[in-house]
Amino acid sequence: LRTDIAAALQQLGIESENAAASSGSEWFGMTGALREVHSPADGALIASVHMADEAAYETILTRAQEAFPVWRSTPAPVRGEVVRQIGVKLRHYKEALGQLVTYEMGKVLSEGLGEVQEMIDICDFAVGQSRQLYGLTMHSERPSHRMYEQYHPLGPIGIISAFNFPVAVWSWNAMLAAVCGDVCIWKPSEKTPLTAIACQRIVAQVLQENDLPEGIFNLIVGDATIGKKMAEDRRLPLVSATGSTRMGQSVGQAVGARLGRSLLELGGNNAIIITPHADLELAIRATAFGAVGTCGQRCTTTRRLIVHEYVYEEVKNRLLRVYEQLRIGDPLKGDTLVGPLIDRQAVETMQRALEQVKAEGGNVLVGGEPLQGSGYESGTYVRPALVEAENHYATVQEETFAPILYLIRYEGEIEKAIALQNDVRQGLSSALFSLNIHETEAFLSHAGSDCGIANINIGTSGAEIGGAFGGEKETGGGRESGSDAWKAYMRRQTNTINYGRQLPLAQGVSFDI
Ligand code: NAD
Repeated sequence: LRTDIAAALQQLGIESENAAASSGSEWFGMTGALREVHSPADGALIASVHMADEAAYETILTRAQEAFPVWRSTPAPVRGEVVRQIGVKLRHYKEALGQLVTYEMGKVLSEGLGEVQEMIDICDFAVGQSRQLYGLTMHSERPSHRMYEQYHPLGPIGIISAFNFPVAVWSWNAMLAAVCGDVCIWKPSEKTPLTAIACQRIVAQVLQENDLPEGIFNLIVGDATIGKKMAEDRRLPLVSATGSTRMGQSVGQAVGARLGRSLLELGGNNAIIITPHADLELAIRATAFGAVGTCGQRCTTTRRLIVHEYVYEEVKNRLLRVYEQLRIGDPLKGDTLVGPLIDRQAVETMQRALEQVKAEGGNVLVGGEPLQGSGYESGTYVRPALVEAENHYATVQEETFAPILYLIRYEGEIEKAIALQNDVRQGLSSALFSLNIHETEAFLSHAGSDCGIANINIGTSGAEIGGAFGGEKETGGGRESGSDAWKAYMRRQTNTINYGRQLPLAQGVSFDI
């Protein structure tokens, strides 16, 4: 193993063979099948991890249930103090954890470090939130009555996360849930278990230093089988799941069948609109980052570029120049812009999508091919593709989790472009480049973008943690991270108190006995 990674693994406590499950600092689950984790960067075996079996699952559930009464009785600002300490530890481990995110998942190092920074940011946000779990007070219609609402913890909650943000998505959920008084059971993607094990070890230190029950933060490594168990498990009042729309449909139905709550963060099919009034310099830079950054593996990746006919040829030519100069390679190397796809299967999926779009009439302008030769031995590197296409093509309507940007032409007014942008089943992120107020306000109006995120003069990807993150339609409707997303992790209770000596009924109803 390369020396920088070996040092990072040692600092983070990753061993060559790792247990499947953990409550705080206790590790168990060494009997399930062993899964090897290879880096998409160079194909090297990083370490192996046992998959959780039935016994490990039950142990985790029991630990979480035992810890919940202690944690919910801990005052919220004290819970916030524990989260503050997690943020401090994450600062300490930022370099090593960021490197491991990059090596295990494949995003370039500045993004790997950025992902850890996002964890630190949500810790800070959650600390403040811990003193602001506000409910409203209402004026009662009855004399000598008072009404108010309060928010209580839900219980043990399940967090299922995707490979592409292997640690940040967990922290968005877990840090808010923790200040809300919930205990968490995290099932990371089976493709990125090592970064999850590293996070669990970091959090465990804080639990121990504060003499808190181990079961407040739990980890369980497994594939969809464990995810399905969590969705069906009545002991988990909330399951927050991030991943493909297909996964979300399965989780949503299973949780819905038992009338539990699900928080779904699913696939996107995000578009940037470029109008004749755009600052093209900004638009091209934002498009390039949005389309090829993270090798097209963000839920907010720009997949469609809807360009007015007046500027279409110029945009196309400028993008072609950018695509020809992309530095593709080792994500740990400082100047790399595009790292690998997660695995060879993702490369095949990309190839199939390109074949399909060609068959539908699409025109591949540049890229798409897998890269071979020195530095590309893992078979996971591709050249990002730029394809002229039409919005209604079946391939364009789907989210292919790879760097394919579809160039779509529009004519006429902004409303035409907005209609194209909205004409997909997903509704995560959207952006408009224009300096014309009629266009920008139309895009943000009730008749504008139908997405959970709508931006002006910045791209579709790279959200800050302060806003509520999530999308509409097949993206699942969930909101995580900032604003009032914390409410998803609590149950609301309405309280009416009678401090009078009569018992008046609401709506003037009389009931004399
Ligand atoms: P995936 O759906 O294959 O897996 C995601 C997680 O769900 C994994 O932990 C997996 O083990 C689990 N899982 C799979 N099937 C399941 C089932 N039937 N029941 C329970 N759990 C199940 O997704 P992926 O390839 O890891 O990630 C890429 C996808 O995630 C893309 O579609 C991307 O857009 C989406 N994503 C969305 C957001 C968002 O916030 N909206 C963020 C990141 C990723």
